[in-house]
Amino acid sequence: MTPPLRFALFGNPVAQSLSPLMHKAAFAAMGLTADYEAIRAGDATEVIRLFRERDLAGASVTIPFKASVLPLLDEVDEEASRIGAVNTIVRRGNRLAGYNTDAFGLAFDLELWCGIRGRRFAILGAGGAARAAVHALLKAGGMPTVYNRTAAKAETLAGNLGCAWAPLTALGAAEADVLINTTPIGMFPKTGETPVEKALLSRFTFVMDTIYNPIRTRLLAEAAAAGCRTRTGAGMFVGQGAGQIRLWMDREPPLAVMRRTVLEKLGGNDAED
Ligand code: NAP
Repeated sequence: MTPPLRFALFGNPVAQSLSPLMHKAAFAAMGLTADYEAIRAGDATEVIRLFRERDLAGASVTIPFKASVLPLLDEVDEEASRIGAVNTIVRRGNRLAGYNTDAFGLAFDLELWCGIRGRRFAILGAGGAARAAVHALLKAGGMPTVYNRTAAKAETLAGNLGCAWAPLTALGAAEADVLINTTPIGMFPKTGETPVEKALLSRFTFVMDTIYNPIRTRLLAEAAAAGCRTRTGAGMFVGQGAGQIRLWMDREPPLAVMRRTVLEKLGGNDAED
């Protein structure tokens, strides 16, 4: 009998992640004998050491190692290099290759929801998720402007990837169809917080939160009350996981199973998205 393929999630913390639940459900639906465990690592060097020690076939990488693991890999996909973050590792023989499926996950979900080409996007935040978002939007013909608390970081991101930027204080004058929150403000356990004053929300037709825990953040609740169409981060999360399965196995992932597993766990439903 062939031994099961082994996969893992590396992050710190990892206990809250839904990746093990989602990937195990996907593997079972695909009829695969494969393990997926969550591993809390101390630093990026430990991520690589544990990957090799455990003889993994692939891994997911989350906060805070998405940028720091990149220079330690044997090869990095061009898109991940441009974004400056890796969320997926694939073993090819003895070499470890890095990819970024966050950009794919976001684009996949936005195309299903509101479309990208020709739309103007206001991106809140300038971290790894914002970089993935801007890359994905530019690639698909969208027009993003980055707004961030630390203006210098927004300026650097915009310069590197080739988009517009503005200080966070200018969000009230934003002319965009879609607002996307890529900051962690409002994420569990600080669910009472929101990154945007509610009076500003009605200027956007669409409001998306990349946060998926809680499934409905305060931002989305206030946006819906202001008449905006809203989208949770669950679809992006499922999309990035689906991208990982394609890279690891070169097979089509069971999207419906993955989505149902995540929404059931978070107490959400399809009607909300
Ligand atoms: P990150 O690199 O740490 O960036 C966080 C950004 O948020 C920074 O630009 C930071 O601004 C801003 N920020 C943080 N706290 C703030 C505050 N109190 N006020 C104003 N701005 C604040 O994190 P990341 O990797 O981009 O991840 C961010 C979030 O994206 C995660 O929490 C997660 O919910 C979401 N995400 C979702 C998915 C998905 O599949 N749905 C995938 C990836 C990420 P400064 O530059 O001023 O510090």
